[in-house]
Amino acid sequence: MTDGTMTQASWLHDARRDLLANAGDRLALFVRGEGAYLWDDTGKRYLDFLAGIAVNSLGHAHPAFVEAIAAQAATLAHVSNYFATPPQLALAARLKRLAGTGESGRVYFSNSGAEANEAAFKLARLHGAPRDGGPGRPRILALTDAFHGRTMGTLALTGKPWMQEPFLPMVPGVEFLDSTIDALEAALDDSVAALILEPIKGEAGVLPLPEGYLEAARDLTRRHGALLILDEIQTGAGRTGEWFAFQHAGITPDAITVAKGIGGGFPIGALITYGDASELFYPGTHGSTFGGNALGTAVAGAVLDEIERGDLLANARTRGAQLREGILGIGSPLVTGCRGQGLLLGVALARPVAKAVVAAAQEHGLIVNAPNDETIRIAPALTIGDVEVDEFLSLFTAALATVADALMLDEVTGQSTDEREAAR
Ligand SMILES: *Cc1c(COP(=O)(O)O)cnc(C)c1O
Repeated sequence: MTDGTMTQASWLHDARRDLLANAGDRLALFVRGEGAYLWDDTGKRYLDFLAGIAVNSLGHAHPAFVEAIAAQAATLAHVSNYFATPPQLALAARLKRLAGTGESGRVYFSNSGAEANEAAFKLARLHGAPRDGGPGRPRILALTDAFHGRTMGTLALTGKPWMQEPFLPMVPGVEFLDSTIDALEAALDDSVAALILEPIKGEAGVLPLPEGYLEAARDLTRRHGALLILDEIQTGAGRTGEWFAFQHAGITPDAITVAKGIGGGFPIGALITYGDASELFYPGTHGSTFGGNALGTAVAGAVLDEIERGDLLANARTRGAQLREGILGIGSPLVTGCRGQGLLLGVALARPVAKAVVAAAQEHGLIVNAPNDETIRIAPALTIGDVEVDEFLSLFTAALATVADALMLDEVTGQSTDEREAAR
């Protein structure tokens, strides 16, 4: 029984045998969820503070989510985009209202975040297409370390060379900038079709943009006639305490993309356009068989209903502040700070031990994740209350202590035994 393969769970064996290795080993086999909790195949309960990567806005198996799926599936699930359906039209109108597009806004529905960004990429190309014998706008700007998806188009927008490298050549025309207003000023001119960016870089480690960045980006893109496209796939649907993160800055973009949290666990995404950007697509330029189907749009409608009804934007703000204060209050030598907004938080670690913290948390019955080696990402359901916050803080404290103990960190100085020896 010392042989690892003998003690390995049979589901892990099956996963290794049957699933492509693109994602690496799965960390658990979950069989059920309710609210902020998950249960694995052994019956162990976990507090879920990842929520499917900012997806399960209402937690697991929320009655409104369940009822919307059942009722719409029993009525009409899919008809293709030759036809419209009431839930699709209702969701489009609602997204326009929540995103503040006014009358001139338009919505394109997809099934995922990457597909929403593919549509945004094509929007940028349409805007940059040469007209009337002019040179057009061949350049698209994105940010270093950004994440916009895994399809070939969105990978070309993703500023992580190690992700792109196995799949070269990339779709051409994309340039990557450091996330500074200076870099933006230097790069923008009339040859730029669009600037695309995340208001908070989630996959890069919950990294906010510098103060005033979105305002400067709006100014500069407008001055040069380039589109400002915001990827709100992780930050949208109320997660940061506004419907969309750009609303904290009080600007109006030309387009935003959403997915993850708007479906609450049902796969759906959208590109939402503002003003003149709404006129770029014309019949035949884009499409999706499943996109905007009645089932997905009905579920997203129900999820957004529930976020509005429960005032979950306010809850994201207050719980987020509570969590931040609580996390810093733990006083762990491993924690150096807490970034992010609302219920999208990144706990900065003093050492590259994020994977160990995630594993220790899971042992203690808490699900969080490590977008990089020095950050723990926290993105729970928007429905969490005092009970979940308190339980999170006690489990996270325990997980940090487990890792600090393993490193034998001094509680006061944060130095390891080796470092204390070396300093002597
Ligand atoms: C998750 C994510 C995507 C990709 O969405 P998928 O649904 O995985 O295709 C794109 N951009 C951001 C900011 C994301 O967080």
